[in-house]
Amino acid sequence: FRYQEIVADAGYESEENYLFLEKNGQSSFIKPMNYEISKTRKYKKDIGKMENMEYDPEKDSYRCQNRKMLTVQYQRKQKTATGYLRTVTVYQCHECKGCTFKEKCIKGNNCKTPMEKREKRLYVSKVMKQKREENVKRIISEYGNQLRMNRSIQAEGSFANVKEDMNFRRYLYRGKENVTAQSVILAIGYNINKLHHKIQNGRTGQHLFALKK
Ligand code: SF4
Repeated sequence: FRYQEIVADAGYESEENYLFLEKNGQSSFIKPMNYEISKTRKYKKDIGKMENMEYDPEKDSYRCQNRKMLTVQYQRKQKTATGYLRTVTVYQCHECKGCTFKEKCIKGNNCKTPMEKREKRLYVSKVMKQKREENVKRIISEYGNQLRMNRSIQAEGSFANVKEDMNFRRYLYRGKENVTAQSVILAIGYNINKLHHKIQNGRTGQHLFALKK
């Protein structure tokens, strides 16, 4: 048995995770790391962000607030802690001189190059960008919303039940095997309890709560 739909909170979002799930034939429903902040007015008005620039897929370039082009300069490889190699494309604008938007567009106050000589750069992983876009389409669908609501109720709710109602505050044993064994027994107990409640309430066979309209 393998779950087809993987629902997770923002801390689990990474290019590596997206590709891992895809390779396993599973669909991701992961809240992107910038999901909440991207809805704020401040984020939407930040002209320095790639998301707020126009992308031209034919020329593989971005157009900034000043209608100038940021074109591909080179690609570089980045290794993650787990050894995964991600490819980052560097885009740069060569017409930033004298731009009136510069202070708002170029960030990084620690840079030693004086502002008047600096040019805007974007560091973009095309794979991450594409996977995030596909993932966002899924999570904002009605079904995606339902899955995410259920994740917060069921996963987070289970922790609360186990810790508060069942008063499980610490493991009685040490060592990976013992802790695993105790976790499994706890889960069995929890599941029997849950099944009992479902039978009492006539909800067997129903694993998702419906979205409130
Ligand atoms: S600083 Fe450069 S990239 Fe930014 S708006 Fe001005 S011209 Fe465009």
